[in-house]
Amino acid sequence: MSGSAVWHPFTQHGLGDPVPLVTHAQGAALYTADGRRVIDAISSWWVTTHGHCHPRIVEAIRAQAGALDQLIFAGWTHAPAERVAAGLTAMMPEELTRVFFSDSGSTSVEVALKMALGYWAHTGQPRGRILVLEHSYHGDTIGAMSVGERGVFNAPYEPLLFDVGTIPFPVGDGANTLEALEAACREAPAAFIVEPLVLGAGGMLMYPPALLSAMAEICRRHEVLLITDEVMTGWGRTGTLLACEQAGVVPDILCIAKGLTGGSMPLAVTMAREEIFMAHWSTDRAKMFFHSSSYTANPIACAAAAANIAIWQEEPVLDRLADLGTRQQALLDRLAKLPGVGATRRCGTIAALDLEVPDGGYMSSLAPRLLTLFREADVLLRPLGNTIYVMPPYCIDDADLTRIGDVIEMAVRAVLP
Ligand code: PLP
Repeated sequence: MSGSAVWHPFTQHGLGDPVPLVTHAQGAALYTADGRRVIDAISSWWVTTHGHCHPRIVEAIRAQAGALDQLIFAGWTHAPAERVAAGLTAMMPEELTRVFFSDSGSTSVEVALKMALGYWAHTGQPRGRILVLEHSYHGDTIGAMSVGERGVFNAPYEPLLFDVGTIPFPVGDGANTLEALEAACREAPAAFIVEPLVLGAGGMLMYPPALLSAMAEICRRHEVLLITDEVMTGWGRTGTLLACEQAGVVPDILCIAKGLTGGSMPLAVTMAREEIFMAHWSTDRAKMFFHSSSYTANPIACAAAAANIAIWQEEPVLDRLADLGTRQQALLDRLAKLPGVGATRRCGTIAALDLEVPDGGYMSSLAPRLLTLFREADVLLRPLGNTIYVMPPYCIDDADLTRIGDVIEMAVRAVLP
C-alpha cells in the first residue's frame, strides 16, 4: 500500500483522481492545504445551510464540548436534547409531537420504517409492506437501500434487500402515480415513504406540491402511514422550512437530518404523531422501541442543532432563501441557453440541469470528466451523471454564484461538442 489508507465513500480509487486536503472552511468557501479557495456549490453534500463554521454554531459546540460530551440516552437526558425537542415540536407541524434522535439521514429512515411496523404490530394489526416512489434515494444502510431505487448503488447487495412496492414516478399530470398508489394502498401496506417535491440522488427530479397533496390524501383515506423523508429537502432547501408545507401535508412520520445542525455535526431525528408513540407506550417492556446507537442524541451534536434552531427562530432565514432562489433561477436561465443543455428545473434553492447525451443516468461517462473540470476550477460540484445541480449554502454571495455559473459554462462547452 502507498499513500493514504483512507477508503473514501462513492469514490472509485482506481481512477486515480487527486483527493484535495481541506484545512478549514468559512461561509461558502473551503480552503485547501495547497492554498486554494474552493467554492462549495453543493453545501458539502447538501448539509451546510447557513454556511461553514457559522459563529453561533461554533460557539455552541465549543461550550458544550467542555460541559457534557456524551451521555447514554436510554433513560437519561440532557439540556441540549430537551432544547432541540422543544424547538422542533414548536416549529414543525403541531401533529408531530414526538422526537426520536439518531445520527444520520439513513438511520432516521431506518427508525421511521421500524416505527411504522411497530405501530401496526403493537396495535394488533401487523402489516409489513412498504411502498416507495420510483427513483428514490433514502440512504445506504440495508433498510434505507431497500426502500431506494434498485440499481448501480446497491446491485451487489440485492440479496440483503427486502421486497417493496414501487409506485411509478409521475409522468405528465401524475395520474400514473396516483392510480398505482391507490391500487397498492388497497393491499393494506404499512407505509408509503417519499421524498417530498425533489428526489435528490435520483437526479434532482422534481414534482409539484399538488401531487404530494394527492398522494398524502390517498394514504390518509386508506390508513396507510405516510413517511416523508426531508433529509435533503428540509431546513429550507425547497424555499420553506419543510417541503411538505408547500403541499399542506403533515406526514405521520418525518425524517430530518443534514441541516438539523446547520450541517456541522452528525445528527438526525425522526418525528412522529402521538398515535405512533402511544402504540409503543405500555407497561409491557416488549413494546418499547428497540432502537439506539451509542451516540444517540450526542450532547455536542444537540447543542449544534439547538443553535441552528435559534438561528431559524431569530434570523431572517426565509428571506435569505427567497433571495437565493431568485438568484439560482437567474443562474439557470443563463445556463439553459448553452448548447447541449436540456431540461432545467428549480425548487427553492435547488437548481438542476440535464446535459443531452446518449448515455444519460448516474453512470454517464460525462460525470468523471465534469468532476475533474470542476475540481481543477476550484468549484465543488458533483454531477449526478449527466445532471448538474447547484445547492449552495444560503450565505453564498453574487460573486461566488456567478463564478459557479462561469465554471459550469466552461465545463459544458468543454465536454459537449
Ligand atoms: N434521505 C435522503 C432524501 C437523502 O438525500 C439522504 C442523503 O443524501 C439520505 C436519506 C441519507 O442521509 P445520510 O447520508 O445522512 O445517511
